[in-house]
Amino acid sequence: MASFETLGLKPELQAAARDLGYETPTPIQEQAIPLLLETASDLVALAQTGTGKTAAFVFPLLQHIFPEERTTQALILSPTRELCLQITRELKNYAQNLPQVGITAVYGGASIQEQGREIKRNPHIVVATPGRLKDMIGRRMVDVSRIAYCVLDEADEMLSMGFVEDIEAILAQTPSTRQTALFSATLPAAIRQLADRYMREPTAVTMQQKQLAVATIEQRYY
Ligand code: AMP
Repeated sequence: MASFETLGLKPELQAAARDLGYETPTPIQEQAIPLLLETASDLVALAQTGTGKTAAFVFPLLQHIFPEERTTQALILSPTRELCLQITRELKNYAQNLPQVGITAVYGGASIQEQGREIKRNPHIVVATPGRLKDMIGRRMVDVSRIAYCVLDEADEMLSMGFVEDIEAILAQTPSTRQTALFSATLPAAIRQLADRYMREPTAVTMQQKQLAVATIEQRYY
């Protein structure tokens, strides 16, 4: 059986998984982590919330970052402020043994000036909603020219919220050599088109509902 020790993660990340009480990787983690650790592989994963998908993309990202280089190296795009903040919390938990790694969240509905001040410190990882990030790139507050890793989380939600043009505008500003990972609960044609245009022969991984890390069914007894 796979373990966090056999996936290829560095000791600081294995220790974080242990400290959080994660005993074994979930199926999506078992498949996505080794793949994303190979920097040349793009990934399209059909995975819902509850499968452990966040850790599946966050662990490889944290392994790839060069902390000594003070540039923004990774982008995570997500549909809502709530999800941005949740991903940021998880990132900080998993980075608990990598204190040099800088992480910032930018999202709409909050002060752009304040987020701009955070971004000026060149965090290694930026977690963002597409609209706010595009706005900040347009105002030259964020430099995405050194992005090596990009994650599109809940891609179907981002599309249904009308973010497709913002996402395309953002990706167009990043180097085409980046590694891109897309996570989505469904794969409508618009997502496949996005993958065709912006990803390089992505490996597809599909998760079944029954492979949830956490039971999402509420049980009641009468
Ligand atoms: P996600 O699908 O990313 O929303 O994750 C669902 C929940 O599963 C989160 O609360 C994680 O903390 C938890 N989780 C992620 N990976 C594991 C794991 N390998 N073992 C146990 N719990 C996990």
